[in-house]
Amino acid sequence: MHQPAIPHLAAADPELAQLVEGEAKRQFEKVRLIASENYVSTAVLEATGTVLTNKYSEGYAGKRYYEGQQFIDQIELLAVARAKAVFGVDHANVQTYSGSPANLAVYLALAAPGDTVMGMALPAGGHLTHGWSVSATGKWFNAVQYGVRKDTGRVDMDEVRELALAERPKLIFCGGTAIPRTIDFPAFAEIAREVDAVLVADIAHIAGLVAGGAHPSPVGHAQVISTTTHKTLRGPRGAMLMSDAEHAKALDKAVFPGLQGGPHNHTTAAIAVALAEAAQPSFRDYAAGIVANAAALADALTERGFDLVSGGTDNHLILVDLTNKGIGGKPAAQAMDRAGIELNYNTVPFDPRKPFDPSGVRLGTAAITTRGLGVEQMPQVAAWMDRAITAANDGDEAAIGVVAGEIAEHLAGYPMPGWA
Ligand SMILES: *Cc1c(COP(=O)(O)O)cnc(C)c1O
Repeated sequence: MHQPAIPHLAAADPELAQLVEGEAKRQFEKVRLIASENYVSTAVLEATGTVLTNKYSEGYAGKRYYEGQQFIDQIELLAVARAKAVFGVDHANVQTYSGSPANLAVYLALAAPGDTVMGMALPAGGHLTHGWSVSATGKWFNAVQYGVRKDTGRVDMDEVRELALAERPKLIFCGGTAIPRTIDFPAFAEIAREVDAVLVADIAHIAGLVAGGAHPSPVGHAQVISTTTHKTLRGPRGAMLMSDAEHAKALDKAVFPGLQGGPHNHTTAAIAVALAEAAQPSFRDYAAGIVANAAALADALTERGFDLVSGGTDNHLILVDLTNKGIGGKPAAQAMDRAGIELNYNTVPFDPRKPFDPSGVRLGTAAITTRGLGVEQMPQVAAWMDRAITAANDGDEAAIGVVAGEIAEHLAGYPMPGWA
């Protein structure tokens, strides 16, 4: 059963309540390896389900456009103070609705339409909002894109520097959605200084690792830091913009009134809760556990002949090129989903196949680490993946069903926040 219990929802809307219960059970029974997902705590779930959703509060604490902010101001100030303490930044804005609008606010604050901006190409591991062609950021700005080296699968800082010197971007984004390696913030900062660009570190994926000391921090290198709150940071769906004092005002103005109306106060409260959790000593163990699990899973997959982009991982994320396994990323991901292993198909750098039918899969260890799985279970996870792919290649649905059963049985021993 969903936890907290949802009796009122079940009475008012049984159809919807049943779907929620179904999703909770699905999350309980699957090895959840989607690199951007997690299990939030029951406290975070409770905060998102409060009457704070009833309140409008356009503006910032002490300068609102609506009355009745006696509690909302305190909640937002608490979230801001905790963000500043956890990440060690001068300024934090906790109102951005999600990672993509947070990045749009950065453009609005620091660039004008048509300006040159630079980011990592989507097929190399960057995010849509870093200037990819189909995104507003690629349409409204002159976006130039860096990638990774073909031989190493890693960002080539010499290429980044040459491109920056040639194009003189106003903004340089570093970070992305499918980067299995440590981001070299000092090297990006040096290049940004050389061309007088603002460096934006988008740590959406790795924020929990940064907060927990398992990935170097961009603070002191990037003037602006953008992050989601719902990936490794393990908070509600939302985002934050952080910065040095110099860029604080411009970012705040871009978020409101530039881009958004009223903040989602129930989300702000849940972000505050997640940040309090991230300040606990146990969060450092969680962050270290994510990285240890990813390393152990990468080793186990390599031993089984899987081809990992860049040869492994430094963080929570693994990108697998399935070409040598004789299966595309999409049919592999679908077969693994049927086998109780949830991940996503993904392009690999220099992918000869199309984005909707690419060569790889992407996975991450944040959710399974939260669930309590440790390094000793990673060879088993790799074995399940291997069996699911072999069964898919053989068209053996029965074998896929057997794996799903084993997984559900195994995971029954691991409690899940949100389920009782
Ligand atoms: C997930 C992600 C985003 C976007 O977040 P949404 O909340 O999905 O809009 C932005 N940048 C990076 C690097 C991400 O991984």
